[in-house]
Amino acid sequence: MKNSKITWKITQGMYVLTVGNGGCIVDAVSQVSGDENPIISVAVMKKNNTNALMKENNFFALSVLPKNVDGNIIKTFGFASSRDINKFEKIETTEVMGVKTIKDSIGYMVLEKVYETENTTHTLFLGRLAEGDIMRDEEPMSYGYYKDHKDELLKVTTEDGKTAWVCTVCGYVYYGEEVPDDYVCPICGVDKSYFEKQEA
Ligand code: FE
Repeated sequence: MKNSKITWKITQGMYVLTVGNGGCIVDAVSQVSGDENPIISVAVMKKNNTNALMKENNFFALSVLPKNVDGNIIKTFGFASSRDINKFEKIETTEVMGVKTIKDSIGYMVLEKVYETENTTHTLFLGRLAEGDIMRDEEPMSYGYYKDHKDELLKVTTEDGKTAWVCTVCGYVYYGEEVPDDYVCPICGVDKSYFEKQEA
């Protein structure tokens, strides 16, 4: 018997991985050494642009998301590619050792890349803690909590009395009678065809 669903019972968190000019949401993060300069592992999907950025840069950061995170952070870093948009345009960051970290988070770790190894779907990167701080004494969001509260975290609200078009990928709302033909979603970068008219 090999019931792979047992792996869903591994407790994982929700983090924004930032590196170079991009980043993404990651859940596969763990501490793998315990001295004064702990080593942290993070797995990044090979098809993500962030994976390429991880290979080009020696430092990266992980920001720990709280349970009450601003849904725009998840939409921007989880549903869009840094190939299409500048993820830092709408999300506030603080630069530490030349790496952007997410302001609206519990805290951050800046890590120096020390090792990487490939598997079929992901690259596993190891980083040694170089800098880090806790900004807020709040409970971190687990991946399980995110899955259970996804709808309310990513809820789309539209203003009454206006014609609204909602991006079916990220939930961004465009107001206007018609979406322009050359329009691209400012959050996730998809074109007009992904927008659906909201029923009043
Ligand atoms: Fe979008």
